[in-house]
Amino acid sequence: MKITNIKPFAAQFISLSKSAESHPKKWVCIKIETDEGIHGWGEIGTGSSVSEKLMSTAVNEVTDLFIGENPMDTERLWHKLFRKFSYVGSRGFTTSLISGFDIALWDIKGKYSNMPIYDLLGGRFRDTVRLYCNSWFDGCDTAKDYAKAAKTNLLDKGYSACKLDPFLEMVPFHTMYQDGFISQEGEEEGYEIVSAVRDVVGPKFEILIDAHGHYNVPNAIRLANNLYDRFKIGWFEEPLPPESIKGLKQVKENTDAPICVGERLYTRYDFLPILENGLADYIMPDTVWTGGISETIKIANMAETYNVPVSPHVIPGGPIELISAAHVVSAIPNFYRLEHSLSLMPKHNNYLKEPYKIINGEFHLNNNPGLGFELDEKKLEKLF
Ligand SMILES: [Mg+2]
Repeated sequence: MKITNIKPFAAQFISLSKSAESHPKKWVCIKIETDEGIHGWGEIGTGSSVSEKLMSTAVNEVTDLFIGENPMDTERLWHKLFRKFSYVGSRGFTTSLISGFDIALWDIKGKYSNMPIYDLLGGRFRDTVRLYCNSWFDGCDTAKDYAKAAKTNLLDKGYSACKLDPFLEMVPFHTMYQDGFISQEGEEEGYEIVSAVRDVVGPKFEILIDAHGHYNVPNAIRLANNLYDRFKIGWFEEPLPPESIKGLKQVKENTDAPICVGERLYTRYDFLPILENGLADYIMPDTVWTGGISETIKIANMAETYNVPVSPHVIPGGPIELISAAHVVSAIPNFYRLEHSLSLMPKHNNYLKEPYKIINGEFHLNNNPGLGFELDEKKLEKLF
């Protein structure tokens, strides 16, 4: 079997949340075609600042590396693309690009073998995938709004875990880091929101807090401790900007709040110092940013040797981000929960020929070969 063609596409998504201001308006996917009539779908991580134009240009640049290659050679092709960018940096932009190709190749591999990807990765460790709900609060501004949304979007829909960043002063999220401080009013507003949510969902519901890498060491420690002592949060995510390994050690040593990092860590090489130094209680690789299915399963296996649970990150991408992560976590023992976006679900389903099956906060993969889901090409915007 040989790769004959690679097509990049874009799809529009609209989110109402303020936090989405830093997100792109489109996500990018690719279709790899073969001479045997089998095709595969992949998704590229566009992160918070990369446009569909830039990513599709990059896809076009590297297409020649893949034409004529055997799509079953996932490992070799992963390295071929990874090494091509050694001099300009092989992590971040490059691994996002690799992710799209890698996932599409796994889709082809599964379809060719007539097996779901999770079977190729070792088979099912679990039949359904536990989720935690994000983007359940779109349009909320006050603690009262959050409380109301927690009832209708979390409890009434059967979820048992959610995530939010209650510190609205720090919008736009992810890019807000300046000096790492939050005002006293901003901090209090955040506690009021978490308190209102906790009152509605009760003591057993897991509330995860995303700090989006906004803080310096003393602010991160204070926030983590207050959130844990007052509201027993399940984790405090990305307390510092992702580069701060030494700072993270200081935060970890000074709080009882469980720490989660990893949505902005790329490949097993970035996760190694986190695991070796015991800097996180959970890790959250993202299949469309860290290097696809091939890399995420390696990161998960590496974390297993440290007994650290994996909880893949999935926002703000398209449907393949969630589906590819679900295949990986179906096949590993050290899994906690998979993130998913409530507000993006209708948008994702619009682009899928068969919609997601999510029941009571659990994602049910089907038994179809490959990813098991097909994108509706007619609804996608062709980029080249
Ligand atoms: Mg996050």
